[in-house]
Amino acid sequence: MTEVRHALGDAARRLGDRVDAEVLLQHVLRRPPSWLIAHADDVMSLADEQAFVELVRRRLAGEPVAYITGRRGFWSLELEVTPATLIPRPETELLVELALARLPEDRAAGVVDLGTGSGAIALAIGTERPHARVLAVDASAAALEVARRNARRLCIPNVRFVEGDWLAPLAGERFDLVVSNPPYIEADDPHLGQGDLRFEPASALASGADGLDDIRRIVADAREVLLPGGWLLFEHGWNQGEACRALLQAAGYREVFTAQDLEQRDRVSGGRRPD
Ligand code: GLN
Repeated sequence: MTEVRHALGDAARRLGDRVDAEVLLQHVLRRPPSWLIAHADDVMSLADEQAFVELVRRRLAGEPVAYITGRRGFWSLELEVTPATLIPRPETELLVELALARLPEDRAAGVVDLGTGSGAIALAIGTERPHARVLAVDASAAALEVARRNARRLCIPNVRFVEGDWLAPLAGERFDLVVSNPPYIEADDPHLGQGDLRFEPASALASGADGLDDIRRIVADAREVLLPGGWLLFEHGWNQGEACRALLQAAGYREVFTAQDLEQRDRVSGGRRPD
């Protein structure tokens, strides 16, 4: 007979991470975070105990917690994630903030999210700006299915989804804002073989020798779909700010800038299509 308190303490020790242990146990017991504290002395059923041991084993083998539970919080949203999608990162909320600052609440702006994955950015913008029309593009049909399910489950009606290669499916449409968290890791970066990244889709992470292949394309092509005065904003690596600003300037964008994340690292760059 194992009590919640003991199962949790044991798993936290083995994983070296109490939060991971709590998230996995909440998932097995289908209970909110507060429940574990109030019920620390409850005895777990054998089935729950075995299910928990199995999830801890998977985590010890390296599998990301978000893929084990199939859920990850982003912005105000609880998103479904699968191994077909990148796991949304808290740093990416900076991109959402910068996008919202450029989208008046009372106007029906057109927004496109390139490489939407789980739909994180598109859905965060869609829910904060109900008048905006958001288009979410991804090259992966499997990722788009997850994103569509997220939109349905969260009842966010103003996001549409389309499969395709970056801006290719947007022929003829024009937007006030293009946002993207593209792949930007250098192809031979050893981090790709470590931690959660090992389990995430390579196509969502790496982008050529210097990590900038997809960003180069987005910077070049976004100009064609932006309305005059419209903004392009995209995420990149901490050491890519200067290169990204140079790309934006060379392509003729104005008001080019880089913003830092909470750890004071370059994270998002952007620019504006001239009027
Ligand atoms: N837009 C998604 C996110 O930010 C997916 C990004 C990606 O797959 N590179 O989480």
